[in-house]
Amino acid sequence: MSIFTFLPIKIGNIREKSIAEIWRNSEVLNSLRQRHNLKGECGSCDYRMGCGDCRGRAYACTDDYLETDPVCLKNLMIAEKLSPVDIKRFGWCVG
Ligand code: SF4
Repeated sequence: MSIFTFLPIKIGNIREKSIAEIWRNSEVLNSLRQRHNLKGECGSCDYRMGCGDCRGRAYACTDDYLETDPVCLKNLMIAEKLSPVDIKRFGWCVG
């Protein structure tokens, strides 16, 4: 059993454990739940507790799902001088 298509890391075997047990005790899931485990720019970001970042994207680009999401909307908004209204108009999720 893995988390989702873009984060193909095994978190447990449902032939050996219940889904509830995997959900509660998976080391990967527990590390993802603890937002203070994030690294790089995400790890020191003021918005990390509520950000809708993508751990799958971080994994695809760095092989580490706790690393910085390379497609940070905050940085995009700053670089392109976009407002939250602009971001919502594009249909992107903001935190
Ligand atoms: S994706 Fe951007 S806004 Fe979100 S936690 Fe990382 S640095 Fe902060």
